[in-house]
Amino acid sequence: MTALPVIAIDGPAASGKGTLARRVAAAMGFAHLDTGTLYRVVGLAVLKAGKDPGDAGAATAAVKALDLSLLEDHALRSAETGVAASQVGANPAVREALLEFQRNFAAHPPGGQGAVLDGRDIGTIICPTATVKLFVTATPQVRARRRYLELFSHGSSRTEAEVLADICSRDHRDMSRPVAPLAQAPDAHLLDTTQLDIEAAVALALEIVRAALRT
Ligand code: C5P
Repeated sequence: MTALPVIAIDGPAASGKGTLARRVAAAMGFAHLDTGTLYRVVGLAVLKAGKDPGDAGAATAAVKALDLSLLEDHALRSAETGVAASQVGANPAVREALLEFQRNFAAHPPGGQGAVLDGRDIGTIICPTATVKLFVTATPQVRARRRYLELFSHGSSRTEAEVLADICSRDHRDMSRPVAPLAQAPDAHLLDTTQLDIEAAVALALEIVRAALRT
């Protein structure tokens, strides 16, 4: 049986990778997994338990219990949950526990056509033999502006400067952790969205994906 196509999309917070992944999946008829939500579920569970996301025991307990009802929780996309997700994501036991679920999704995607996974380590660790790899990025200032506008539209009172500080510390934590750090895979296509609106970024991503699937 021939393996189904897998598209790996990685990049830092607010780079636009989530929207790109959703749009690419819809255009190709592939299933999409936003792997950040898995880490957010674990981070939010620890916060709700009143524990510190940096506490390895609390994070390990939360990933074992994996409460998927939290996917519907309005706090899942909050800035605080993003920070907690990044903290639990630095824990090797949490990453190990989530590995198989992600690989299984890539190998057996719902719909049976192909899979798009977005995250931080998809092209490097989860799916190193993915059919196409994209590394999506933009300057921290542009990413902070986008995230600030998104949070503001959801009623958040966080300032743009606070959002920029969050993004910089999250970048630092994601890139410097010893296990599965955020990094561009050597064979990933770099897509810098600093000067691109979402339509232009989607068009470019689809061009790369379609070219790779033809070869
Ligand atoms: O993409 P999102 O901002 O929702 O991810 C939240 C956090 O989860 C990231 O900052 C990162 O630390 C962690 N994460 C990860 N590996 C992934 C996806 C997300 O470590 N594949």
